[in-house]
Amino acid sequence: MTRPVNVALLGATGSIGQQALDVIDRNPARLRLFGLTEGRRSAKRSADYLIQGQAGEADFDRRVEEMVTDPRCDLVLVAIPGARALTPTLAALKAGKEIALATKEVLVMAGDLVMRAAGERGLRPVDSEHSAIWQCLWGERREHVRRLIITASGGPFWAHPDLDLDQVTVEQALNHPRWSMGPKVTIDSATLMNKGLEVIEAHHLFGIGLEHISVSIHPQSVVHSVVEFIDGSMKAQIGRPDMRLPIAVALAYPERMADAVPPAPLEELSGLEFHALDENRFPSVRLARQAAAEGHGRPAVLNAANEEAVNAFLDGAIPFGGIVQAVRSALDAYPGGGETLPEILEADRWAREYVKTGVRQAPSGRLEA
Ligand code: MG
Repeated sequence: MTRPVNVALLGATGSIGQQALDVIDRNPARLRLFGLTEGRRSAKRSADYLIQGQAGEADFDRRVEEMVTDPRCDLVLVAIPGARALTPTLAALKAGKEIALATKEVLVMAGDLVMRAAGERGLRPVDSEHSAIWQCLWGERREHVRRLIITASGGPFWAHPDLDLDQVTVEQALNHPRWSMGPKVTIDSATLMNKGLEVIEAHHLFGIGLEHISVSIHPQSVVHSVVEFIDGSMKAQIGRPDMRLPIAVALAYPERMADAVPPAPLEELSGLEFHALDENRFPSVRLARQAAAEGHGRPAVLNAANEEAVNAFLDGAIPFGGIVQAVRSALDAYPGGGETLPEILEADRWAREYVKTGVRQAPSGRLEA
């Protein structure tokens, strides 16, 4: 290795961003922080670009574009939450940069466009399930893969089938049993919408048909996902739930980083359970699969409607059960659109407006499907 890899970190303030900084700091021979974006000022750091602000602000967007297209930048780690990560990701891909992607919304909204821009080199997934699948696929041939099985912790409510999901509080929904994450992803884990988004993400990342990707509830979060091959063999990637591992795998690829996380004794990982997903109680995965199969902007509507509905729930404007209901309602009302970037951004805008207007107008806080 001649010099450390110059890493631009989009979204340094959040949970992934903070853990990425930790991985970079501990590997100065391999990685160098080239630049970062952050929502608010944090500890002083030295880098070529230190950009503060929010996506959508003209000056912020211009500087981000400058950073991710800078010839000295090698790799961009995308960890800005939500739809706002799409434009800078496309800019970095067009400039030929390697992308480590933590923000699944980028692929949910515009998977075809993004994968086309990535071309042969593809993307390095940071989502733990997709990192697991990616690692299981190394050295394998695509035609030998029969099925991807994405594991799901089930979130805080899966194990309580008698719980009325309309009565749960924001605090209960934010209390994830296994992973410590930002509020948006944590609520998505509780509705299982996170798995719906992850099915679409896996479909685009690995070029596997939606019908060959399934979800299995695995409360221990030790098996991070599974690949089943045509001969019946199954490969899984296992370990303690610790996001520093998928971050290190993505940043070090095709190398492996020594001691990225402490190894777990197998005995500590025993007692693994797997359960079928109850799609009637948690219809998110089915909704997501349908939206992706129908295309024409619907995955972008699913994603944006969900983001706005999660915000409305966190603000106390709608009940927990109203989140998925709002997404379904938006998908039903959406007239359909196209697949170009402006059309996808328009679908995103349409869905946000639809949910915000609906939440304002529905006195019960529910949007009828
Ligand atoms: Mg995940």
